[in-house]
Amino acid sequence: MFAEVIIDIKNKQVNKSFDYIIPTYLEGILHVGCRVKVPFGKLKRTGYILKTKESTEVTRGLKEIDEAIDLKPVLNEEFIKLAEYISIHDFSFYATSLETMIPQALRMKYEKTIKWVTNSLDESLQKHFKTKKEISFNTIPKELEPILFKEIKLGNLVIDSRIKRVRKEKYITYVHFNSEKVGIPSSKKGMDLLSYLEEINEDIDINSLMNDSGYSKNVIDTLAKNGFIDLYKKEIEPEEDIKNYIDKEVSLNRMQEDVYHSLKLGNEKTYLLHGVTGSGKTELYMRWIKDSIHSGKEALMLVPEISLTPQITAIFYARFKENIAVLHSRLTISEKYEQWKRILNGDVKIVVGARSAIFAPLKNLGIIIVDECHEASYRQSNNPKYSAIDLAKIRSHTYNCPLVLGSATPNAEDYFRAIHGEYELLSLPKRANGRELPKSIVVDLREELKNGNRTPLSNILKEEIIKCYRNHEQSILFLNRRGYSSFVQCRNCGEVVKCPHCDISLTYHGKTNTLKCHYCGYQISNVMKCEKCGSDKIRYVGSGTEKLYEAVKNILPEAKVLRLDTDTVAKMEDYENIYHEFKEHKADILVGTQMVTKGLDFENVTLVGVANADIALHYPTFDANQVAFNLIEQVAGRAGRAKKDGKVIIQTYDPNNYVIECAKNHDYEGFYKKEILFRKASSMPPFSEPIEIEVIGKNLGETKKEAIHIANALRGVSINSIILGPTEAYIFKKKDLYHYVILVQAKEDIVLDKIQYIYPLYQNNKDITISITRK
Ligand code: ADP
Ligand code: ZN
Ligand code: ZN
Repeated sequence: MFAEVIIDIKNKQVNKSFDYIIPTYLEGILHVGCRVKVPFGKLKRTGYILKTKESTEVTRGLKEIDEAIDLKPVLNEEFIKLAEYISIHDFSFYATSLETMIPQALRMKYEKTIKWVTNSLDESLQKHFKTKKEISFNTIPKELEPILFKEIKLGNLVIDSRIKRVRKEKYITYVHFNSEKVGIPSSKKGMDLLSYLEEINEDIDINSLMNDSGYSKNVIDTLAKNGFIDLYKKEIEPEEDIKNYIDKEVSLNRMQEDVYHSLKLGNEKTYLLHGVTGSGKTELYMRWIKDSIHSGKEALMLVPEISLTPQITAIFYARFKENIAVLHSRLTISEKYEQWKRILNGDVKIVVGARSAIFAPLKNLGIIIVDECHEASYRQSNNPKYSAIDLAKIRSHTYNCPLVLGSATPNAEDYFRAIHGEYELLSLPKRANGRELPKSIVVDLREELKNGNRTPLSNILKEEIIKCYRNHEQSILFLNRRGYSSFVQCRNCGEVVKCPHCDISLTYHGKTNTLKCHYCGYQISNVMKCEKCGSDKIRYVGSGTEKLYEAVKNILPEAKVLRLDTDTVAKMEDYENIYHEFKEHKADILVGTQMVTKGLDFENVTLVGVANADIALHYPTFDANQVAFNLIEQVAGRAGRAKKDGKVIIQTYDPNNYVIECAKNHDYEGFYKKEILFRKASSMPPFSEPIEIEVIGKNLGETKKEAIHIANALRGVSINSIILGPTEAYIFKKKDLYHYVILVQAKEDIVLDKIQYIYPLYQNNKDITISITRK
């Protein structure tokens, strides 16, 4: 017998499969989806079996599989096809995609065990069992393996696997990015991981970090040892309330009832459920899941990680009992593995989880639901850069089952598809409890400036904050920003102090009075004079929330004001302290960055102020308007959730912008109509597939030349696609490497094929590499 094996070396030669001989004693043991060790060149590498077969066309140099890593398949045919799709569609390697699909526990060392389940067994093996019924696979000497596998085939022995730590850890380790540390990690992986941590910009538990970023514990430990990150432990709070939660199944209202009956199980249609926040989407999800289970099938539901709170878990457990696996980041690696095994064995009918739960090994899907389908986190940001929603569509096709995409603010491309019949549109335009969405007022900041108001608070917002405080109600002030805070600028000539290696502004650190580059660690003491014009009118431009905080303190010195941003929140604990303080109404006003938009639910908040709605509008991405609209809708949703009505004040220099106007009126359709015209005019989704190709190299001239070469090659095959650039990347120079960007708005397969062809050519290239991202 022969096996087609994919080998996990990530370069161009090995993105295809190789044939190997299956040793006779492993025949019938090794199946599709098992991992093996194989000789490859001078090395022994891990490989995945894609196929087994009776004959091979390879005549020369055929080698034998060395050893079996798994004795039971860890992947099935469906996932092998899915991995192939990812590697083609999302420009990554087959092996990387396969690896992503198996639980982390299996990527580490795990113990194979053998269980003796009958009365007969070859004598040479019997003595290794001594008095036990189950022993470790490793206790059997290698030369006995042929006999061992024969016994397995005879059914006397059964193979199982166990990962070593199965006890529940009392503590969970959190990772904190240490921004004070100077210097750079010596490994590329270390640097990448730091950039990743910087991007997410908050402390994260180590399991989620390893899961989301794909880096190993080793990389993390090395960074910690060298002081780039801090690890600290936090006690895991018992999730008692989960068991005590009592399910109350409400009866559906008329709107829900209509939507409920519109969905048909047993076909592969995609439904877009457009329902305002609080319209009762979750209740519908649970009905459909229940129906699916009653029809003898299974259900898979994806939600953003931040929505996987203990409350939502409790609601699902209460309704579905032991039929369900909830895969959240509070689970340890071994707990996740146990859940995965339960799913694989068919002990679980319902899986709820974040992005990677799309790989839950359910085998008889009856419905797939993706809640908050507009969320960017459904696409993984590092390789393989798959979209869980794309994969959900493929799985829905495989199982001929419906896919429900739910959102209060669907992406324009999805709404377009719903309107044009590719999806079926289901709508819930009102809140289930009958409460109105909060009223919004737009304030023109240009007028404020004209009237001499230079503070970040308009007169209306000031009055409302004071009124709210006098009524013993709470308010949230939101200042949208991205990335790091303060940089140093000359007020005379406008020059900003930048890193000589990275071409980005240096960050001011008050504690040490230094300026630091967050990409490479370059550091100098704070400058007193402008390098360009010599002026001493140097100032650092603060994070904004600080100024906002001070402005609030000025008008209400007696109020208790909290600040929630990356400057005040170094650790998860700080975040929780602030959260609880505000929730228990020990503070009156919360000032913060987008951190305050993340699913906070406070009964007593009646006022939300958006300090500057324009910032979000000017990100250099095609969906900036959409993100801005969603963001304003989300913060607005923090107001008036319970018994009292809410009010939203949106401050802007651009009050006539359609995004602001529509967000003010909670007018999604109005927003969509304008947005889709803009998408069409600029050939953006759904009118093309935008793909960004980053060309990275040490030598400026060479890198540019190569980037032009690639762009021209793509232009050579393009018919209607648009190929922009190469242009210098937003951060052109990073750690002494130059970054050029080509933006492809692909409209034909031939352009996609060409990119697919180009991608591997640069993966092992020492001088120039490329990185490809779907936008
Ligand atoms: P969404 O997921 O659309 O934001 P939820 O499903 O969380 O909304 O529902 C919001 C609130 O309305 C929840 O507290 C839920 O229990 C309640 N709710 C949902 N459907 C009904 C209904 N038919 N009658 C009364 N309350 C409902
Ligand atoms: Zn100057
Ligand atoms: Zn730098």
